[in-house]
Amino acid sequence: MNALNKKTIEDIDVSGKRVLVRCDFNVPLKDGVITNDKRIVSSLPTIRYLLDHHAKVILCSHLGRPKGEFKPEFSMAPVAKRLSELLGFEVKLAKDVVGESAKELAANMKEGEAILLENVRFHAEETKNDPGFSKALASLADVYVNDAFGTAHRAHSSTAGVADYLPAVCGYLIQKEISVMGTALADPKRPFVAILGGAKVSDKIGVIENLLGKVDTLIIGGAMAYTFKAASGEAIGTSLCERDKFDLANNIVKQAAEKGVRFLLPLDSRCGDQYAPDCNMLIANVEEGIPDGYMGLDIGPRTEELYADAIKGAGTVIWNGPMGVSEWDRFAAGTIAVAKAVAESGAISIIGGGDSAAAVEKLGFGDKMTHISTGGGASLEFLEGLELPGIAALNDK
Ligand code: AMP
Repeated sequence: MNALNKKTIEDIDVSGKRVLVRCDFNVPLKDGVITNDKRIVSSLPTIRYLLDHHAKVILCSHLGRPKGEFKPEFSMAPVAKRLSELLGFEVKLAKDVVGESAKELAANMKEGEAILLENVRFHAEETKNDPGFSKALASLADVYVNDAFGTAHRAHSSTAGVADYLPAVCGYLIQKEISVMGTALADPKRPFVAILGGAKVSDKIGVIENLLGKVDTLIIGGAMAYTFKAASGEAIGTSLCERDKFDLANNIVKQAAEKGVRFLLPLDSRCGDQYAPDCNMLIANVEEGIPDGYMGLDIGPRTEELYADAIKGAGTVIWNGPMGVSEWDRFAAGTIAVAKAVAESGAISIIGGGDSAAAVEKLGFGDKMTHISTGGGASLEFLEGLELPGIAALNDK
């Protein structure tokens, strides 16, 4: 899949038109205050283009999980406020999604204005991709733009269903996500190195299988490394492990060997005697394995060196999932070392969303990466080679 095959906002006439834009404004909130506005800021290029081209911009998004009913703590009000500050004019918030307030605001807009609908997930029909709800949303506008990469892997009314009733194109954010990741997968600058970490092998099987046919090196970190180790008979103490995935893990190792992919597992681990930030620590080597009563919570110093060396000189790096419990300072070293190696490699570097993106940004390497995806689940599904419903629904070029 490649968004370049899909129409973008530049391929249609938006002047004087009411344009419904699905954004990903699912921002973190604390006591009603936005703690990180990256997702709002990322949507500005599309919004500004539409405003500059005399569209009447009707924005919508979900926020949190209100489970199909109005709940004030999930109101889009903080987003409307932040959008107004960023755009320099008032973005009015409708009191509902497809009700009287939304209809009235949408009907009375002028060119170059923007409004925001209430949280689309205040309607249970949204996540069911209910045709009636999709149609009601579509009736507010003349054109639909999807720019919510973070929910593009969901077939919901506002992310896919609405495209059945309106001309449907993608915005700049989706275009950028797909073109950066699509190019890396289809025509990578080599050597192509993938780094996969995080909690579970089972979450990443699809990605591993898709990448095995494309990469030169596959680096494994995080808890998922221990399933591979245990499957090969190594002692892993009380490390997280998916015992029902041993055959799969061994099969992946075998496939990597057959395809000539360099497959790297940790040579050592920083371990704790319990799953707690203040646990007693020791470093266990692959030669002896992890002692009873200890669990691997981060890659160790020898592994940092091995991985940094494998990343050095890469042409393209794709990274999804931290190397350890990077939320805890004492087990963040492996993730920091890998982030540093990626930043210094000069490679085209693509960071999957979710935990890896948060880790890279928190550790201060955000601006050193070529691309940090705005979608965790969506980028994983894209790397699995799956079709994202929110993009498939858009009009072909
Ligand atoms: P994921 O969402 O699959 O990318 O997994 C990210 C989570 O995996 C983070 O919350 C990490 O704390 C956790 N994680 C990474 N390595 C380990 C480990 N060795 N043991 C336990 N949890 C881990």
